[in-house]
Amino acid sequence: MFSSKAESAPLTSLRTRLVFLFVGIFGVTLILFSFFLYEVFVSNHQKEFDAALYNYTVDVASAVDVSFFGELTLTPNALTESEKVFPFALGEAFLQIYSVQGKPLARSRNLSNNVLKLTDEDRTAVLAQGSNFKTIPAKELARSRIFSKNYRLLTYLINRSGPFDYVVQVAVPMVLLEHEKSNLITFFSFSIPIVLLIAACGGLYVSRKALAPVNAIIEKSKKITATQLSQRVPVPAAKDEIRELALTLNALLDRLEQAFYSQETFIADASHQLKTPLSILRGEIDLMRSKERSAQEMAEFLHSASQEVNYLSRMVEDLLILARVDAGASSLSIQSVRLDETVLEVIARLDRIATQKAVKLSVHFSETQSPMETEGDGDLIRSLVENLIENAVKYSPEQGKVSVTLSEMPEERILLAVEDQGRGIPESSRDKIFDRFYRSENSRDKISGSGLGLAIAKRIVEVHGGKIRVESRPETGVPGSCFKVEFRRRMKA
Ligand code: ADP
Repeated sequence: MFSSKAESAPLTSLRTRLVFLFVGIFGVTLILFSFFLYEVFVSNHQKEFDAALYNYTVDVASAVDVSFFGELTLTPNALTESEKVFPFALGEAFLQIYSVQGKPLARSRNLSNNVLKLTDEDRTAVLAQGSNFKTIPAKELARSRIFSKNYRLLTYLINRSGPFDYVVQVAVPMVLLEHEKSNLITFFSFSIPIVLLIAACGGLYVSRKALAPVNAIIEKSKKITATQLSQRVPVPAAKDEIRELALTLNALLDRLEQAFYSQETFIADASHQLKTPLSILRGEIDLMRSKERSAQEMAEFLHSASQEVNYLSRMVEDLLILARVDAGASSLSIQSVRLDETVLEVIARLDRIATQKAVKLSVHFSETQSPMETEGDGDLIRSLVENLIENAVKYSPEQGKVSVTLSEMPEERILLAVEDQGRGIPESSRDKIFDRFYRSENSRDKISGSGLGLAIAKRIVEVHGGKIRVESRPETGVPGSCFKVEFRRRMKA
């Protein structure tokens, strides 16, 4: 129960995290965009509002008349014409006229006893620029009952040449603009959460759909056990990263299945190879114990038993080497290895077997500037050289010749060639000789061996980054075989 909860948690949190991230980024963008829209809208409306107020004030100013003696007269209709006095929706305009010295001269009737103030600052600004806009907040005007809203005030200079200049002030309520602003804020405060909610639902749906193939892969992977290694995870049709993941997993399963079965086959083969000499040994022991044996029979038995024990210990040794090489590069003790010295050492050890068969072992090292040195596990490289030379001797006829050559190759490589004059390797066997436990038909009875020598050699070469191949053409009538191994030359520090 505990583990299934832990297994499903990462997927849920990935989906939630994706949705949160998506909604977060989208939300911030939406809010910034709405804010920008609001600012543009407000600034445009403010400009339109001010333009309308300016036009209206110009109309009002043209209704102000000054007599020759400087008396102020107003065209009576100018302030009563409804479309001029009330051009602003949701409120009325107030009007007041000052002398340029700041003395109030006249005001519209709707102002009754209230006064639109003309501060020294306003007066200086209007005298300098001809007009001046200002917003008067409701709280500044709250003393008066008629000013219950924010007002936009335009102070405008009526230029009547020389001493007859006047300042006219027109104040209009900003109700419409504020109404539109508050409408916009209400719209945004409802629409943004709704849009984000839709985005979150959409995100959840999309992420669930996108992760569905991952779910299917997880479900299938859980069902694949060691006994069902032939099964594969589903591969989605869309050419995306999830398909890549499924293909990678399937390739991994291919390798696992192959490794698993070759391991099984290897164990079965190894058991069989160990069982046969053990059965022979047990049979012989039982036979010896069944009755009294002569000294000669006893000696024969001991000779045969020693051969079987030798074979068994060689086999166990080979299996141990294989296990070590199979464990990979981490199990190797890497050092610099002199190949010429290794070859000479191996030849000295095999001299006795060669002499028994009167096989002539010859060595040739080509002359080089620097020593024939590679980097690797000394013991394993010795095993490799030994397997090749021992095979060459084993499969050579009596009085045959085996030659071992070390030479330089391009690209900092060294070539080891082990050549014999034996029966050669027929084409049908050439691909198989490096397989574990493979022994050719005519080797099985006549020549002792485990079928592991070349498999070990191949693995050793592989873990050292080298190459191994065999050249043999008995079918063309040319006897013998030549095994060639390429080593990487040790680079000087
Ligand atoms: P083993 O020698 O114990 O049988 P190997 O793995 O060393 O196992 O060799 C596998 C097979 O390859 C041998 O059974 C033999 O048929 C063939 N082989 C190996 N080396 C030679 C050689 N030098 N000449 C001819 N055949 C060889």
